[in-house]
Amino acid sequence: MTVKKTIYPAGSVNKRHGMTYYFGIDLGGTSIKVGLVNNDGEPICLYTIPTRGERGPEEAIVRINSIIERVLADTLIDRSSIAGIGLATPGTMNIPKGMLLSPSNLPSWKNFPIRDRLRDVCGFPVTFVHDASAAAYGEYWHGAAQGEEGVITITLGTGIGCGIVLRGEVWDGIHCHGGECGHIIIDMSPTARWCNCGQQGHLEAYASATGVVKRTLEMVHAGLNTSLSQRIYSIEQQLEIPKILFEEASGGDALSLRIIDDTAFYLALGLVSIVNTVDPSCILIGGAMTFGGKDTELGRNFLQTIDRQFRQRTFSYLAERIRIDYAQLGSDAGFIGAAGLAKHENETKTMPEQSLSSIKRVSAKPTKPTKQTKHRKPKNGKKAQ
Ligand SMILES: [Zn+2]
Repeated sequence: MTVKKTIYPAGSVNKRHGMTYYFGIDLGGTSIKVGLVNNDGEPICLYTIPTRGERGPEEAIVRINSIIERVLADTLIDRSSIAGIGLATPGTMNIPKGMLLSPSNLPSWKNFPIRDRLRDVCGFPVTFVHDASAAAYGEYWHGAAQGEEGVITITLGTGIGCGIVLRGEVWDGIHCHGGECGHIIIDMSPTARWCNCGQQGHLEAYASATGVVKRTLEMVHAGLNTSLSQRIYSIEQQLEIPKILFEEASGGDALSLRIIDDTAFYLALGLVSIVNTVDPSCILIGGAMTFGGKDTELGRNFLQTIDRQFRQRTFSYLAERIRIDYAQLGSDAGFIGAAGLAKHENETKTMPEQSLSSIKRVSAKPTKPTKQTKHRKPKNGKKAQ
């Protein structure tokens, strides 16, 4: 099994007597992060393993369990000091029932009772959360949104992830669809761009990495005068195009700078709608496409342009009060936030659908995925994405 191991500064400190710990798991289409986090939100260690989605969820749960056992053995932390596991996955999902419904990057994991299967195999209570909510909670608990009353995180990757935390609680919505801000409509024209979800004019079609790659290719193919044309030829380069864009913009290429500025403008349009709906105290921008973030002039300019364009279009009362900044935790936000939400559930709620006293470890023998039949379609007939 290919395993990448990371030890954090808190992991080298002698453990304090009586400290409680949580596992945070961030399960994605290509990799699974299994991290140990202490009660104060400090990560101790992180193991990253490939998801191998084609082998199905039961096999992945067995591998997750073996990592958990390995962490316990390595750190000499007793099982009784682990108060729970937070499990973050992409949607669509039914959070109250602990079900994965139709995760877009894991097509064979449909209608799988992942929360209870993980609990049965690992022997710890499991808190099941949306990965975007976990990232937002991570920033709220131990990142750039500490002390904020309400935070929205916008994660720019192949899509646009959005997590919402208000007064210490995540907002997932009635259909666990509450953070799908990438599908806010920002263009109503007949020629609006098509989104991956099959609809037109959505923010994600313009400002996600995928959207930026398509816009860049169109401009290069239109024969505009740009140094990009010497480096960019086809959609095959999509993984490296945001980096090329960053490099050429840093070198002063006007078209590259314009594409980045336009991206900031589109994001600002989306933020106006989000803010007028949710009313947070802070918005954090993160993900793979932040052009170096706070560490580069280009990254700082990107954030300033988002900020300026947003403030020109929103109520001055909000413009004066809402902070827009970069997220701090990077790709660690998901597993730290998942652990934080396990702590939150452990400390504030009883768990009606999975009584702690009923938890006993069972064998990792696979069960047949149960068919999920009770999830009602939204009344407006909206297709689950
Ligand atoms: Zn969409």
